[in-house]
Amino acid sequence: MNAAAALPAATDAALDVARVRDDFPILAREVYGKPLVYLDSAASAQKPRQVIDAESAVYEEEYANVHRGVHYLSQAATDRFEATRRRVRAFLNARSEDEIVFVRGGTEGVNLVARSWGRTALKEGDEILISTLEHHANIVPWHLLAEEKGLVVKGVPIHEDGQIDMDAYRDLLTERTKLVAITQMSNALGIVTPIEEIVRLAHDAGARTMVDGCQAVSHGAVDVRALDCDFYVFSGHKVYGPTGIGALYGKAELLESMPPWQGGGEMIARVSLERSTFKKPPHRFEAGTPAIAQAIALKAALDYVAGLGLDRIAEHEAMLLDYATERLSSLDGVTIYGTHPNKASILSFNLEGAHPHDVGTIVDRDGVAVRVGHHCAQPAMQRYGIPATVRASFALYNTLDEVDALVASLAKVREFFA
Ligand code: PMP
Repeated sequence: MNAAAALPAATDAALDVARVRDDFPILAREVYGKPLVYLDSAASAQKPRQVIDAESAVYEEEYANVHRGVHYLSQAATDRFEATRRRVRAFLNARSEDEIVFVRGGTEGVNLVARSWGRTALKEGDEILISTLEHHANIVPWHLLAEEKGLVVKGVPIHEDGQIDMDAYRDLLTERTKLVAITQMSNALGIVTPIEEIVRLAHDAGARTMVDGCQAVSHGAVDVRALDCDFYVFSGHKVYGPTGIGALYGKAELLESMPPWQGGGEMIARVSLERSTFKKPPHRFEAGTPAIAQAIALKAALDYVAGLGLDRIAEHEAMLLDYATERLSSLDGVTIYGTHPNKASILSFNLEGAHPHDVGTIVDRDGVAVRVGHHCAQPAMQRYGIPATVRASFALYNTLDEVDALVASLAKVREFFA
């Protein structure tokens, strides 16, 4: 079954952005007396009314702790919490909801894999392959583990256009490679990687695979079964859901083989003063009280994007990205980083003679919110010999007028630094 098949049907018509914008209360606000132009959804997406309402409804109507009460409210909250797990299963097209572990977000998902699977399955001298495109969340946990266990972390380089160098990848994959941990989409450059091929080659070489889907999930349908990756992580807040909730997908047989990574309530089968035994996955990996309302509202977010249709969202964002790329290229002194055609929704650039932080601060006064800095992707910045970029990221609620507002504001910056 395809993930989309289980979701509310979307129609063929193009995205009705004006109507969509009405769903996002924050988009009606002004900053510094100017309409807000929010171009920082890659850092965190704004929330539709449907998600905000779902989260407050939990507190107003059905809040209690989950998995531990016999009383009505606890059972109601548990049912809804577990309904999100089923929803995430369909969203990723996992085989079973037992393959879906709730985590705080992508960062926690990677750390879980490193601490549990990595700590037990890897031994001294084993190699982990990451890439120059990775977010620090998919680098630092491996460095920490490498330090502890004597592992070697190697980075697959990228071409000048930002795409993974697949020849270099093939050369780096050896019998020593035990894990390939690579992103499906770069948060710094917007590059979409050939992740199917990356996973296939890794498996051919006998390595396990972990895909960082934090950026990818809001721009197109994901099918972990077709992808055949061993692990997949994403954060709810980047797909229009709440903060503090995300998911780790792991193949059932792998999760089954993994020890707990945190101990506490709700992950045990039995505890005596001398020893503990543990539940089966996914509960084995979910110690303590989870983000209950946030998990329940994540379902509303996934229903929301499915209702609009991920294909239609991707089409709209591609149109915005093409237009923004064309308009920005017409400005003098603009360098765009990440020019490979396989990219989505993110435009990372610098203006000659202007520090990215100054650019961000000046356009902010026009109400335009962009991200400036290294985007927690310092190896990508190092690849281009720059400390930082300006990043405009587009989401389902952005418009061509907003791209014009960005370009008009950047033209002012150019004059300022001319
Ligand atoms: N990976 C990528 C590609 C990301 O963009 C991010 C968030 N910027 C993360 C991982 C980490 O996600 P979070 O901060 O939600 O845990």
